[in-house]
Amino acid sequence: MAEFDFDLFTIGAGSGGVAASRRAASYGARVAICEGSRVGGTCVIRGCVPKKLLVYASQFRDAFQDACAYGWDSHVPAFDWPTLIANKDKEIDRLNGIYIKMLETSGVTLLPHFGRLIDKHTVEVAGKRYTAKNILIATGGWPSLPEIPGIEHAITSNEALHLGHLPHSILIIGGGYIAVEFASIFRGLGVEVTIMIRGEDLLNGFDDDIRVALAQELRNRGIEILARTKPVKVVEGAGGFTVTDHLGREHSAGLVMAATGRRPNTRDLGLEELGVEMDKGGAIRVDEWSRTNVDGVYAIGDVTDRMALTPIAIAEGRALAETLFNDNPMRISYDNVATGVFSLPPLGTVGLTEAEARARYAKVDIYRTGFRPMKHTLSGREERVLMKLVVDGESQRVLGCHMMGMDAPEIVQGLAIALNCGATKADFDRTIALHPSTAEEFVLLREKVADPQKL
Ligand code: FAD
Repeated sequence: MAEFDFDLFTIGAGSGGVAASRRAASYGARVAICEGSRVGGTCVIRGCVPKKLLVYASQFRDAFQDACAYGWDSHVPAFDWPTLIANKDKEIDRLNGIYIKMLETSGVTLLPHFGRLIDKHTVEVAGKRYTAKNILIATGGWPSLPEIPGIEHAITSNEALHLGHLPHSILIIGGGYIAVEFASIFRGLGVEVTIMIRGEDLLNGFDDDIRVALAQELRNRGIEILARTKPVKVVEGAGGFTVTDHLGREHSAGLVMAATGRRPNTRDLGLEELGVEMDKGGAIRVDEWSRTNVDGVYAIGDVTDRMALTPIAIAEGRALAETLFNDNPMRISYDNVATGVFSLPPLGTVGLTEAEARARYAKVDIYRTGFRPMKHTLSGREERVLMKLVVDGESQRVLGCHMMGMDAPEIVQGLAIALNCGATKADFDRTIALHPSTAEEFVLLREKVADPQKL
């Protein structure tokens, strides 16, 4: 009889857990996975997918308005939020079903309950104990709220996807990508939007030029950005809520949303009892092989707070399965990971920001262009594109590509391949442009931006 019930027991059936479990099972491992909520996890159920469907919905107003200059009838048809939410839910149900089916056909045993570690080889699920040679923690994260009075009145991205009706106005606390994306969604659907941020600019960690340019575009769309402003209190009143800031000013809105970061799901998992090391924020500490400090216990995805993106969780999960069950030791690279922000207009970015490059390289060349895209020459829309290349001034390797503008995420995904191949500025230059397109500007950039240190 086998020593353990399973070769791998995964806690959490989100992007990472499902990918690791299926890959392990494909190599003949006996795999079980438990899920306390819905199979598919954050990305499918309450993240990337439903959000992107709402982004699509929010883009139609622009399209209807712009169509007028192209000869189409100019009226903007009525919008019905409940229809959008019902259709979105139907699609999420469909994907949830596909994920469950994929686990079944892969031969993975699905236990639809929360799990808890009992020891390094035992997981308890719904009162029953299962043993496994290896245990994988892939429990993801959950919105974290600022500790201020009245914050229980605020919704998070979870509830934003299920509102019964659209508010007339919303105040969003936070300036990360989730805040910016939901601000764009709500504004696109006609809601008055205010963003409240502690710092000067949105989107910490993104290239500064892009951050400034996006803030301007959002303002042009009527989104108010309250910079250097901290909320201290939320109070419910007639017809809405009032947020008081650190200067005592009051800001009213029909709805308040907190998009103030996420914390790893590590509470009540039995990790402390087992001695699994975590950082101050509760993220599980792992090495490059996704090993925790406890032998045979692994962690991947958002719960490790390395790079909180779906494709990263999937890649970490598959790498672990390769290592454990295919005699193919695999680690993943976190360099040149392309990311998008699905704001209006969207962002695409890969590689180093200008600030990161200047901190690491002796000489950095910057190429930048900003223009009004051809589509808006007729529509008259005052929306600009910004494109930027960050280049190592010595080797001429392209270190970063950043873009704000229509289709930026689609364009930058392709450029990520070039960066991973070590493309130089000369490689970009000898690439013939695809005309007429916005993307062609990335291979037509000639003039270096003056080095600020030499001005
Ligand atoms: P998750 O997908 O969160 O899965 C963890 C699962 O574990 C959950 O289903 C949870 O219910 C379950 N679980 C937790 N505790 C237990 C337990 N004790 N027992 C059993 N099950 C448990 N990423 C992108 O790449 N692109 C995007 O555009 C994007 N948009 C996003 C938008 C929003 C609003 C949010 C919130 C996130 C977005 N992300 C995006 C991030 C992405 O969703 C996550 O990085 C990804 O889902 C992480 O996968 P994971 O497997 O680590 O965790």
